Amino acid sequence: MTAKRQTRNVRWIATLAAGALATAATDPAMAQGDRHVIVITLDGLRWQELFDGADRDLITGADGGVSDSTATLRRFWRTDRDDRRRALMPFLWSAVDRQGLILGDSAAGSVVRVTNGRRFSYPGYNELFVGAPDDRRIDSNRKLPNPNVTVLEWLGRRPGFGGRVEVFGSWDVFPSIFNAERSGLPVNGDGPPFPRAASDTERALNRMSEWLPALWAAARLDAPTMAAAAEALVQRQPRVLTVLLGETDEWAHARRYDQYLDAAHRADRFIEYLWTTAQTLPSYRGRTTLLISTDHGRGNGRAWTDHGEEVPSADRIWMAVLGPEVSPTESLGRQPATQSQFAATIARVVGEDWQTARPDAAGPLRLRPD
Ligand SMILES: [Zn+2]
Repeated sequence: MTAKRQTRNVRWIATLAAGALATAATDPAMAQGDRHVIVITLDGLRWQELFDGADRDLITGADGGVSDSTATLRRFWRTDRDDRRRALMPFLWSAVDRQGLILGDSAAGSVVRVTNGRRFSYPGYNELFVGAPDDRRIDSNRKLPNPNVTVLEWLGRRPGFGGRVEVFGSWDVFPSIFNAERSGLPVNGDGPPFPRAASDTERALNRMSEWLPALWAAARLDAPTMAAAAEALVQRQPRVLTVLLGETDEWAHARRYDQYLDAAHRADRFIEYLWTTAQTLPSYRGRTTLLISTDHGRGNGRAWTDHGEEVPSADRIWMAVLGPEVSPTESLGRQPATQSQFAATIARVVGEDWQTARPDAAGPLRLRPD
């Protein structure tokens, strides 16, 4: 018996002792196994910024393409490393302090590697959500309907998850990556965030999305993606809510380090909003895990904008798991990890075992001491 199960039994006994059996039996959220997960990715956000905070040379030198370095230094530069990374992603670091495992900080002896040899987006999302690389078939960002079943597709067919897995993204390739046609998952990637708007709020968000500037051909701004995911969280309370943000990558390719930092910072505020909102909802409170990662790393110095097969350092990424499933220790923080462990970890935190469906997938991260 695991320690977790023991704790749960103790809780049950306490509940019975309090004479609250009727409440527990009628509250579906009390049912064992009704755990939730919120999965968030920040496309191409480097481990360098996550752990070290903003890079002074990129803010002040020509390689960063920053339009107002004084203002950017004021917002994101601090002399102390810990202060600096907290200036960039304050919520993430406070959540790690409370109950979280964060991997990929080389200064702390932690490395997370991409195992696909491509080091760009589709192969990265495929590895994250399938749990194994597929360099032979997934070799471009073409809208190829994914031949692999993702852990989200599989979860959507598990008992207790039907209609309770939702995906919101800012890139028009996501419906192919999650093979929306085969999986039946609601996957959003471009156009209005609610293709079948059913309420005034959803219609309003669709209008807002239409009125925002279209800066990139294949990706929309993250704001409508965030707003739609936040609305879905409250209205439908999915058990698996996945939000795939894209601006960090778009601004990096555009060599706009100031906008890249701002996109990461806004993502952090969004994650905080989702998390604090979830804690106000009985179905999520105390039973929700937050998983955060990225599809690929990037280069160093002037090449901070780049990634791909010819940028070897882009195989280094990061991963965070926050919430009640995690019991962090120093040695868990140094476990060697790969991008491919993400899929099984998603399943694990909601009580499922992805390797039963996909035996060649990597196993989940270790979240608590054995
Ligand atoms: Zn990219």
